[in-house]
Amino acid sequence: MHDDERVSDELEALQAILMEEIKINCDESGQAVGLETEIHPWTALDTETQYVRLTLEVTLPPGYPDVRPNVTLSNPRGLDDSLLTSLHKEIEEKCSQNLGQPVIYEIYEIIKERLTNSNRPSVPCCICLYGFRQADQFTKTDCYHYFHSHCLAGHLTASENIFKEEQDKLPPWQQTATFQALCPICRASINYDVETLRTADPPQELEEAPRTFQPTPELRVLQERMEALYLRQRSKGGIIQEDNKTLLLTEESNGESNANNR
Ligand SMILES: [Zn+2]
Ligand SMILES: [Zn+2]
Repeated sequence: MHDDERVSDELEALQAILMEEIKINCDESGQAVGLETEIHPWTALDTETQYVRLTLEVTLPPGYPDVRPNVTLSNPRGLDDSLLTSLHKEIEEKCSQNLGQPVIYEIYEIIKERLTNSNRPSVPCCICLYGFRQADQFTKTDCYHYFHSHCLAGHLTASENIFKEEQDKLPPWQQTATFQALCPICRASINYDVETLRTADPPQELEEAPRTFQPTPELRVLQERMEALYLRQRSKGGIIQEDNKTLLLTEESNGESNANNR
């Protein structure tokens, strides 16, 4: 598998431990040039409570282990950038300390331990943009995306309603499609019972958020721009309605405007 015995021993040990979870890449001559493994937190066999994961990709440059391996962390789920940055740093240090000896299993263990300690999504729910508190009920999709169950219920109901409205616009013989819920982030198919999700409480942070809405400076600028656009459209004789993209003629048009001179 590798000319260097230190490396072939290391790869054999990794295969014995990780079994089908590790993929070793070889060149045409059968020499191992890299490997890939998806890492999950330690939760015994309970995959339902694994909320974070990432893929460790290692390429073995000629001369490894006397030369440091190239390590890439890809497909992170539920992990924020600061955690990934500090993980990268820790791996870099480990590689520097271990020059001359195999280091891949140690890298694997560093990641596994970090994932186990952060086995709670540290990214916010993309539906409500609030984080996950201890008491929040949340749903992990098969694609490893997280939503408050409450938020996901709302999203699924809304998307099914939109789907039905679109279907109703079609002639009956074209109304053949059935609704398939999709993950709001990656659009993978997801299947959940909305009634069950709906029994979850709203996210805690949302509940605690101040009730009075305070527009941000960016939003104020946007409001001003939209108002200017609205006034210009009105003075030119027609307002484009966003919801159904129709042109509403305004009084200022004095009957001269039509849809062609926008
Ligand atoms: Zn949410
Ligand atoms: Zn997804």
